[in-house]
Amino acid sequence: MGRKVGVIAAVLVALVGVLAVYLYNRITVLDHEAVTDSVSVIYGAGGNVAVLRTQRGAVVVDTMTFPIQGRRILALAERLGGGPTQAVINTHYHADHTHGNPAWPAGTRIVSTERTRAYLDQFDSAFWEGPVAGSAPNDLFEDRHELRIGDKTVRSFHLGRGHTGGDLVVLFVEDRVLHTGDLFFNRRYPNIDLEAGGSVQQWAQTLESVLALDFDRVIPGHGPVTDRSGLLEFQRFIAELAAFARESAAAGMSLEETLAAASLEHDAAFEELSVPFLYKFDRDFAIRRAWEEASGAVRPVELGDPASGKL
Ligand SMILES: [Zn+2]
Repeated sequence: MGRKVGVIAAVLVALVGVLAVYLYNRITVLDHEAVTDSVSVIYGAGGNVAVLRTQRGAVVVDTMTFPIQGRRILALAERLGGGPTQAVINTHYHADHTHGNPAWPAGTRIVSTERTRAYLDQFDSAFWEGPVAGSAPNDLFEDRHELRIGDKTVRSFHLGRGHTGGDLVVLFVEDRVLHTGDLFFNRRYPNIDLEAGGSVQQWAQTLESVLALDFDRVIPGHGPVTDRSGLLEFQRFIAELAAFARESAAAGMSLEETLAAASLEHDAAFEELSVPFLYKFDRDFAIRRAWEEASGAVRPVELGDPASGKL
């Protein structure tokens, strides 16, 4: 009996060890590839990171999910970006795009929209209080922001609601590359954060404004790098989802009836995005969120300042 327990215990310890190694690798291994001569993308457990090389050093867009990833991204960005980071840009407030921020030294310029900063304070304050408070965005704008660093121009735009109410997109002007943040999930079902001002109904229009910018290559928030046609494909899905949800809400259909009646076409090539026990972004999730907005079942959280009236 004692021998059996000992064997079981040894097997359990080994399994926990294997799981720990797996998780450590999953979190810390980063892949990267060149998008242009000056722009690289870093893939890992979290949102896609962009690095721009300038004559003075790196500009980094998003920082993934964990401070340990941030430290690796910081080191990689210094190499890919031609020197120490000159600025970090956070496309929106979600943890898988911002929680690497604390790896950068105090005083680093960190750009986001005012709304993203407000959502951080509203929904993720436990992380941003205390020692990492100085790593939250400190260079805030409402609609449009421009950085000139060395030979490069970096423009950030807030063009409307979609994934959240505060997303920005980043245009690397000379390289004609756009980082969309999570306004674009490439061939994946999107997360839709209605509580933080996200909107399926307005998303396609926001993407119309994004598509009016001058770019060729596109780094999505999740999924592989693509071009304008990939972004158009996602816009068609979002427009289809919005129209379906509007019609079902107008007909007074319940969520169950809406899920049963769904006949979407533009997601044929889409994958699910999920982490067990944490989240699952699939077709049913997208339809549920679209129905919750269209039927008025879920509304944006009031941010407690006059600006929130614009939500
Ligand atoms: Zn997100």
